Amino acid sequence: MLAGYAVHVEQSRGRRFSEPPHPYRNNFQRDRDRIIHARAFRRLEDKTQVFTRRYSDHFRNRLTHTIEVAQITRTVAGALKLNVDLAEALALVHDLGHPPFGHAGEKALDAVMRSHGSFFDHNLHALRIVEDFEQRYAAFPGLNLTFEVREGIIKHSRDYCAAEHPALSEYLLDQRPPLEAQLIDLTDEIGYNTADLDDGHEANLLPLEQIAGSLPVFERFFREAQQSYPHVADKLKFNEALKGLFNRLTSDLIANTQSRIEKAGVKTVADVRRHPERIVALSSEVEGEREEIKNFLYQNLYYSPSLTGEKDDAEHIVNALFAFWMENPSALPHHYQEKADQESLPRVICDYIAGMTDHFIVEQYEKHCGA
Ligand code: MG
Repeated sequence: MLAGYAVHVEQSRGRRFSEPPHPYRNNFQRDRDRIIHARAFRRLEDKTQVFTRRYSDHFRNRLTHTIEVAQITRTVAGALKLNVDLAEALALVHDLGHPPFGHAGEKALDAVMRSHGSFFDHNLHALRIVEDFEQRYAAFPGLNLTFEVREGIIKHSRDYCAAEHPALSEYLLDQRPPLEAQLIDLTDEIGYNTADLDDGHEANLLPLEQIAGSLPVFERFFREAQQSYPHVADKLKFNEALKGLFNRLTSDLIANTQSRIEKAGVKTVADVRRHPERIVALSSEVEGEREEIKNFLYQNLYYSPSLTGEKDDAEHIVNALFAFWMENPSALPHHYQEKADQESLPRVICDYIAGMTDHFIVEQYEKHCGA
């Protein structure tokens, strides 16, 4: 049973190109399935989350991260009686616009676009993928997703100002997105904060003592695990502590959002949209813990000297290839050369690079820039 404030699929604003209804899948289920079958979705498998060139086969990449976020999102959306199909589609699509090489690749691409008077934004890029770049269906370009999924792609993690982004005006930029979209920002955070502690520890970049010494909330759960399982290996106690942390963040997100829904008095999606602030949130206590974990990961993992070399390589490869195609546009694939008739060359090159996997961009670099 859906709550009144959930998005009901029958009330969807629909697709750009109308399609006959499916006999046994509703429109949000179809959108979820179209995302899973998209080429850009499969490419997530070879895109860095945190660790480039895979320290190990066990570490997350953007695809496994996405699947984990979808799992958390389904749980939270179900507990809040939100539309699980829509929330799951939004979780599965949330990282579709990420370029190769994780954050380093994104930063490099944005910097080079800024030098050409523009910028790179992964949410806007994801929208271009599903609206245009995916060519699967004879009847329409892109995936022809419902309004609510397209809206969630751009609005899940930040607000876009209508004056700066006139092309997005159809997405009700002066209103809050539905709760299903608001969720994604935090389920994404819960997913990567816990996963990065796990992978960072596994990579020997974050020793147990350092995590427990810096994060009181983790230390509490670790102590509990020690009391409950004094004789098992430390790694299993670590896993128990991580599970405790994971459950704490997720349960708090559910309980606190539920209480904010009640306090705000929202009864319908229209109420959610009109509410002056986002309603999905952690409690202030757990929000403080989330921030601590995030800061800890920035200081000790994302900016770890062990990852600096890979980040420098990523930046160098993006810059070198970008410069190469700026000077040699005829070396771009034919399809991209044609696009340069309608769009600026930097944007076309940016779109091409952003779509690449880590493996493919390295191959292109070796081919065109010599390694
Ligand atoms: Mg993510």
